[in-house]
Formats: sequence, C-alpha cells, structure tokens
Amino acid sequence: MRDGRDIFAELQQSGLVVSDVGYDAVMADLVNGAPPILVLGGSHGPAIGTRVISIRQRQLLDELVAVARVPFSKSGPAQPPAVPWQRLADDLRRTAGRKLDLAFHWEGYRDGGYWMCELSLDGVAQGGCNVDWGQADPEGSLVDLADRLCEGWLHEEVWGGWPMCVKHPTRPMWAEMGESGRAMWGCEADHSDAVEIGQLGL
Ligand SMILES: [Zn+2]
Repeated sequence: MRDGRDIFAELQQSGLVVSDVGYDAVMADLVNGAPPILVLGGSHGPAIGTRVISIRQRQLLDELVAVARVPFSKSGPAQPPAVPWQRLADDLRRTAGRKLDLAFHWEGYRDGGYWMCELSLDGVAQGGCNVDWGQADPEGSLVDLADRLCEGWLHEEVWGGWPMCVKHPTRPMWAEMGESGRAMWGCEADHSDAVEIGQLGL
C-alpha cells in the first residue's frame, strides 16, 4: 500500500484539494467515514464543484480512504455474530437441494463498525447486508436472518417459494421466535405446524 502522504500530494497536484486543507485533518475525517470529496473541500464545501472527477482521482480517493482506515479495519469484535445459520442452510439443502453459505467480515471505523454478511447460493455470490447481531442472542439473530433471507431473496430464488408448510403446500412459512426461545418456521394457517429452524424436512 502506498504512503498516504504520496497519495495526498498527487491529489493536491491534480487540483482536488483546496489549499488550506491539511493531511492530518483529512485522514482524521476519512477515518470517521466522511465523504472524501467533502473532506478535501474543507470549509469551502465539495472540492470539485461541478467538475467531473477523473478515474485516476477516484482511484486516489479510494486508496486514501483505505490508508486512513488501516489502523482500524482489523479491530472490532474478535468474534463474528453467533448466529447459527447452518441450521437454516441445512433446511434449505434438505428441502430444496440448494447450498447456502454465509461469510462475515468486519467494516471498522474509529468509533465502531459493523459486520457485513456475504451470501452465496450454490457457490455463486449473491451480495450482502450489514447486520447488528452480536454474541448475545443467537436465536433472535437467526429469526432476523431467516426473515431477511426469505423476504428479500429466497421466496423468489427458490421455485414456488421457500420454505413452504408441509401440511399447507401453498403457504409460505415465516420465521418467528418460538415459546421455547428457539427460532422457528411458523405457519399462518395452523400454529401447531411450526417447526424449529434446522428441523425442516426431518
Ligand atoms: Zn401449515
């Protein structure tokens, strides 16, 4: 990775930095997630006004943001969220023959950050979402995960919808917290059809 001051100097030469903005102040603002264009413009507002930013300038800005975040990107919670997502993946593999994988990585800032959850289906990346789960509530996290995946994705991705109730084949099941404190698939037609997530199709 290049030295941040070299990148900054090249940005200055390219005319993207107003004269009274200093390196240290810029880096401090970038660490906190401020938009680079605003940071480089200092008190004058956006640095480029109505000009179009070049591809090279865009690259330099991305590099500078990456340098600013280096001290923090490795920090953050040591453990990824404790969501037992394999139970949902087992259900999907067993009843629909599809392979779901999740991977977590931490997006760090000086004063915090968040976990990004990257999804793949049958080995093909599907994008991701940021999540606010921690270590404290695995079952609640699993309900939230199942809700997001079904709502935004699996109901369309799996032909006919997923998951469907065994006794009511036209009824999609929805994630809910069971009275036992375990994450469940619930059926709107009959509450007694509820199945614990991870037990579907067994
Ligand atoms: Zn049912």
